[in-house]
Amino acid sequence: MSMTIESLIQESHQTAKSKGWWDDPDRNVGELLALIHSEVSEALEVYRVKGKDSISENWFDEKGKPEGFTVELADVIIRIADLCGEFELDLEESLTTKLSYNQTRPYRHGNKKA
Ligand SMILES: [Mg+2]
Repeated sequence: MSMTIESLIQESHQTAKSKGWWDDPDRNVGELLALIHSEVSEALEVYRVKGKDSISENWFDEKGKPEGFTVELADVIIRIADLCGEFELDLEESLTTKLSYNQTRPYRHGNKKA
């Protein structure tokens, strides 16, 4: 499967729309960011339960739903892509800009501790 940032955004948003997640006109950016954060929390919960040695393991639950640490990371990205699709945000441009800028930053960004 070949995937681009743009195809990720289009598929994520089309699927979300087709499943009714954009039927509510009151959906707002704050709620969408909270949902992105909820997927980060799900990844944390997998890590808490399974531990570091198992974060590469994925499985299917009894209903056939994919589960696992990287599945939750995928959910984070899918939700970000869905948001970008709705508001026609150029995520690829921002990724390119920020990755390039990060290369110019000083070691530990000027001796920050964490
Ligand atoms: Mg999830």
